Amino acid sequence: MSGHTLASPLQRRRQCPACQWEMLPDGRLGVEVDYCPLCRGVWLDGGELEAIVARTVVAAEQSQGDRR
Ligand SMILES: [Zn+2]
Repeated sequence: MSGHTLASPLQRRRQCPACQWEMLPDGRLGVEVDYCPLCRGVWLDGGELEAIVARTVVAAEQSQGDRR
């Protein structure tokens, strides 16, 4: 097998694909994402986007329900 490597949980630090800067973990969205302080990009692992979307959809439905 080749061409596919799994990232170790202990070595999660990544470089920004856009500017190669070292990315920082950011948990403000409720899940841990990788944030680039240089270009302000946010990069998600598989499953993180789904978690954020799920939370966003729930929040949107709740806000619509409050409208009268
Ligand atoms: Zn960047």
